[in-house]
Amino acid sequence: MRQRKYQICSNCIMDTSDPNITFDERGWCDYCRNFYKNIQPNWHPNEKGEEIIMPLIEKIKKEGKGRDHDCLIGISGGMDSSYVTYIAKEKFGLRPLLFHCDAGWNSQVGVNNIEKIIDGLNLDLVTEVINWLEMKDLQRAFFKSQVPFVDQPQDLALFSAIYNFAAKNKFKYVITGGNHSTECVRESIEWTYYSTDTRHVKDIHRRFGERPLKTFPMCDIFKYKLYSRFIKGVSVIKLLDSVSYIKKDAERELSERFGWQKYPQKHYESRFTRFFESYWTPKKHGYDKRRAYFSSEILTKQMTREESLKRIAKPELDEQTMAKEFEYVAKKLGFTISEFQEIFEGENKSFRDYKNNLALIMLGLKVMQMLGIEKRLFM
Ligand SMILES: [Zn+2]
Repeated sequence: MRQRKYQICSNCIMDTSDPNITFDERGWCDYCRNFYKNIQPNWHPNEKGEEIIMPLIEKIKKEGKGRDHDCLIGISGGMDSSYVTYIAKEKFGLRPLLFHCDAGWNSQVGVNNIEKIIDGLNLDLVTEVINWLEMKDLQRAFFKSQVPFVDQPQDLALFSAIYNFAAKNKFKYVITGGNHSTECVRESIEWTYYSTDTRHVKDIHRRFGERPLKTFPMCDIFKYKLYSRFIKGVSVIKLLDSVSYIKKDAERELSERFGWQKYPQKHYESRFTRFFESYWTPKKHGYDKRRAYFSSEILTKQMTREESLKRIAKPELDEQTMAKEFEYVAKKLGFTISEFQEIFEGENKSFRDYKNNLALIMLGLKVMQMLGIEKRLFM
């Protein structure tokens, strides 16, 4: 990786730990420029947004008549998916079927939160449990490969499971908790490579895996972007972008209505993700994903830059908790502490060191950006 002088954006807190970041003469980064130029003008988290989405909501209801459910929502127990479920049912009057994928790493708080939402809203839930031996094998392979995004297997499983379920059960509308409010800064692909590039996943598994993946759900990026969307007609709807979605208010609302319990950080409904984001990547790969989360909240005016700088200066978890989690993850994945430590200290690699479909994906994204379907910046 090329060496460059340290620089941090003067508007958000993204910095040169993102190797591809560039700054303009004001010291603003690409993410900020992209937000003001492409995202903000097209984003209406207010009454206008509700007005724009209403015809689609009516269409979903109409097409769902006579069915038990009119749409599908993937629920992880995290904040975004919990809140979108609540909004879909209570605000828009939809009749969602909830879908949860259990990849073996649910935190207790996450499980409790799912139950509270389901009971509180009286909804039906389908759970798919990923074969743990396959999950474990793929996760071990990713650790051994030394790429930064070791959370890719879990991400791929969650995404593929719901997508395949939708296609199989003829759900045309999948509502997700994806949103600009807390995710408008989509971190660099050097940090978080595309989960659904199955060519990449298969190459890493071929080299480091030890057992065949027979049932592991894999939905390739091209399959869902093209085949499912245009041939099967499955639409993915980011409902949270059409309503006011302020994290603090949403947390309070969920907790008052359902006894939902908040997390100290985004994605902490999975014990693995918590470990990966708060320990493995900052300590081993030198970047902190909170930088992208906080920057998103700065741009959407939910946190000040000063507040974020203060928070990012301290690790999210204390040393003792991190040591405990290191041991827990190692054991659960069948590594001895010293094996896991050896991987941790081993030479870092990039996704580019393994087969991937990046060139094709970039071409596809360019087309989508030209058509106005994708507004976030991918670097
Ligand atoms: Zn910036």
